[in-house]
Amino acid sequence: MAVTTLLAKTVFDATGDEFIRDGFVQIENGKIKAIGRREDLGSAASGARDLGDATILPGLVNMHTHLTLSGSRQCLHDALYDTYEQKMMRAVEHARQAIMSGVTTIRDCGTLDSIVFSVRQASADGLIAAPHVWASGNVLTSTGGHCYFFGNEVDTVEEARRAVREQVKAGADFVKVMATGGGLTPNTNPREAQFDEAQMKAIVEDSARLGRYVAAHCHGTPGIRNAVAAQVRTIEHCSFMVPDGVHYEQPVADEVAEKGIYVCPTFGVGERARQWMEQEGIDNPFAATRNQRVDSLRKLWDTGVKFVSGNDAGVTMTRFDDFQLDLELLVEHVGASSAQAIRTGTSQAAEAIGSDDFGSLAPGKRADILAVRGNAMDDVGALRNILLVIKSGRTMVDNA
Ligand SMILES: [Zn+2]
Repeated sequence: MAVTTLLAKTVFDATGDEFIRDGFVQIENGKIKAIGRREDLGSAASGARDLGDATILPGLVNMHTHLTLSGSRQCLHDALYDTYEQKMMRAVEHARQAIMSGVTTIRDCGTLDSIVFSVRQASADGLIAAPHVWASGNVLTSTGGHCYFFGNEVDTVEEARRAVREQVKAGADFVKVMATGGGLTPNTNPREAQFDEAQMKAIVEDSARLGRYVAAHCHGTPGIRNAVAAQVRTIEHCSFMVPDGVHYEQPVADEVAEKGIYVCPTFGVGERARQWMEQEGIDNPFAATRNQRVDSLRKLWDTGVKFVSGNDAGVTMTRFDDFQLDLELLVEHVGASSAQAIRTGTSQAAEAIGSDDFGSLAPGKRADILAVRGNAMDDVGALRNILLVIKSGRTMVDNA
């Protein structure tokens, strides 16, 4: 198969803070063949495609999505009343929006087994335009608990173990557990734990036995504590909610950092809804909580906790083609550099997933590549100016 060589003013491999000025990336058989400085290409530079004032970087990894959730203002209503076929169509369309916006891998954190595993297969087969899919399928939740409408409802250690085994049998790449209630689901309590420490440990241990890791949705601090004690791989949201608001706890944050647990803050979720309410002059009851949450996340970051980025796409007014917002907010609110922000949605994401196949630009990695106009190292906003999206060597978008 032919070798494709791309040239650009900036090439970022996403392994550190450094980038290559006037660099190249070579692709062969769906993999990256080489990366380096243009001057080292020699005569091979003559057949290369020059993108000019552009940045080449790894395709983005959105670490938290829900393929069938509508992302509309009545997201819960849609989740409860959509037909199965409508859900499937939403999933296919959302996957298309993601890949067109430069996201070459999604980690889906809760979608009905039969839908998400079918989308994963269709994507792998090239049947639909979609990112690579890494999926939990059904979540583990308590009876009537958060997202029970795509969950296995379990209430005891034995039931939890059985559900882990059922998910692995169905094809889960990892196990997602709702460690606390959530805002989307009525009659749940986001501030309290849905599973105790023994149950969380049983879920993590049995998942590990089967070669899977656990991602835990945690708003309330009691849920965070149980997830940390059980040593889950990733904590989603990590909101430090308590009965009367938000209360950040440094010792808990220290333990998260010490145990190497990744936090996916889902910065972008709710942000477009907030902007819309502000524009319409609607009173936003969550405004104060949001500021406290941003403050907690900044402290977590300063503690040295490893972040990965995911936007909870599918939830109320949260789009699959708006993942870049999470990286922008990371720069704006926690003071991350562009390089650091990009790593949370590329190399660090792949590391959290546990894969050596993607997430950075290096020989032998999957050729999942994004090229954008301008210098994304100076301005993370450049990630929206898409020139090329390449998935496993196949061109999905070409605006160059
Ligand atoms: Zn979620």
